[in-house]
Amino acid sequence: MTTDAVVVGAGVVGCALAWELAQEGMRVRLLDRQKPAAEASWAAAGMLAATPEGPGMAALVPLNQAGLAAYPSFVEKLEAATGLRVGYRRQTTLVVFLGPQTDHDQGEYLAALAESGLVGEPLTGEEARQREPTLNPKVKAAVAMPGEACLDTRALGRALVLAAVRQGVELQTGAEVKGLLIEGDRCRGVLTANERIPAGHVVIAAGCYSAGIERVARYAPTRPARGQMLAIDAGAAMPGSMLRSIRSHLVGYLVPREDGRLLAGSTIEDAGFDKSYTPGGMRKILDAALEMIPGLENAPILEAWAGLRPDTPDHLPILGPTDIPGLSIATGHFRDGILLAPVTARLARRWILGREPDLPLAPFSPLRFIRVAAAT
Ligand SMILES: Cc1cc2nc3c(=O)[nH]c(=O)nc-3n(C[C@H](O)[C@H](O)[C@H](O)COP(=O)(O)OP(=O)(O)OC[C@H]3O[C@@H](n4cnc5c(N)ncnc54)[C@H](O)[C@@H]3O)c2cc1C
Repeated sequence: MTTDAVVVGAGVVGCALAWELAQEGMRVRLLDRQKPAAEASWAAAGMLAATPEGPGMAALVPLNQAGLAAYPSFVEKLEAATGLRVGYRRQTTLVVFLGPQTDHDQGEYLAALAESGLVGEPLTGEEARQREPTLNPKVKAAVAMPGEACLDTRALGRALVLAAVRQGVELQTGAEVKGLLIEGDRCRGVLTANERIPAGHVVIAAGCYSAGIERVARYAPTRPARGQMLAIDAGAAMPGSMLRSIRSHLVGYLVPREDGRLLAGSTIEDAGFDKSYTPGGMRKILDAALEMIPGLENAPILEAWAGLRPDTPDHLPILGPTDIPGLSIATGHFRDGILLAPVTARLARRWILGREPDLPLAPFSPLRFIRVAAAT
C-alpha cells in the first residue's frame, strides 16, 4: 500500500504533524534517525508564552497566540488518546526586573507588549512578592502575564509518540534521511542510506538538522542554537512554594514541574552541534536563578543538560509548501517549538490537503530565503 505522507523527524513537531495527518485517514510514515523526541523537544523548559523574543519577531505574535489558544483542547485530546498526563497548567507568569533601570525596563517591556497587542499587568516589587513570596526583596518591579501556561516537555514527547502510533502512524527509528526522491518536477519520497521511501507528500521536520538533508538547505537554512538547562529540587528547599513560572527580563527563567523539580534556564549559544553543558553556562543560569529566588541557594541540583534549538536566519519558523510539489517544511521554531507544535500540525494538515491556511503563512514561507539570496 502506498504511503500518503512521510514526516522526517520525530520531535514534538513531527509527531504532532504525523498524528494530525493520521487522524485525517492518511497513511503516514514518521522517520527518525534515533529515538523519537530525544533532541530539542526533550531539552525544552516547557514555557508556553506568546511574547516575542525580539523586535524583528513581531510576526510571531499571532502564531504564538494561536499556539497558546490551541493547547487546552490539544492536551485534552492527547491525554484522552493515550491515558498519559503531560503536566499542562495555565498560569500567570511573573516577569521580574532587577537591574539598575527597573522603572525604565518595566516601561519598555509594557510598551513592547502593547505594540504586539499583548497585555501585561504592571506590579510593584511588593505586589509581586504577595503573589510569589519567595521572590528576592531586591525585585522592585514586575509584570504579570495572565493566560500563559507550562507543561512537562518530556511527558509531551512520550504522549505524542504514543498517540501517533495508536492512530496508525508507522514510526521507523534508525532511519536517517539523506536526501529527497525527486522525479520530474515533483518530490516523490525520501532517500535513506539504504532505502527509497516513496510518498505522496514529504514534510521535513528535522529540527536544527533539517539543513543537512540534501536539497533542503535552500528552503530550511536551519542552524543550532544551544540552550543549557538545570533542574533544581525546589520542593526540598521550599516545600509548597513556586507555583508559577518566573522570568527575569533578558536574564533567565524558572519553570516549575508538578513533581517539585524547578527547571532553570537558559543560554543561547552558537556552539555548532555540541550538546555539552559548561561551567560558564551553568554559572549564568545559577546566577539568574539565585537572583530571582535567593532561597534556592542550598537546594539540590538534580540534573543538567543542553539541547539545540532549531534557529533560522530571521529567527522565525519555516512553515509551508516549497516550490517543489510534494515537498513542505515545518521547522525552525527556535525558542517556541513546544508552544507551536499543535498549531503547526493544524496548519500543515491544511496545506497538505490543499485548504486555505487559517493564519497568515507568508512571513514563514520556505521560499523567503531564496528571494533574499536572489535579491543580493
Ligand atoms: C534549552 C531549551 C529550552 C527551550 N524551552 C522552550 C520552551 O520553554 N517553550 C517552547 O515552546 N520551546 C522551547 N524550546 C524550543 C523547542 O525545544 C524547539 O523549538 C522544539 O523542540 C523543536 O521541535 P522539533 O520537533 O522541530 O525538533 P527536535 O525536537 O530537535 O526534533 C527533530 C528530530 O529530527 C530528527 N532528525 C534530524 N535529522 C534527521 C534526519 N536526517 N533523518 C531522520 N531524522 C532526523 C532528530 O533525531 C529529532 O528527533 C527550548 C529549546 C531548548 C534547547
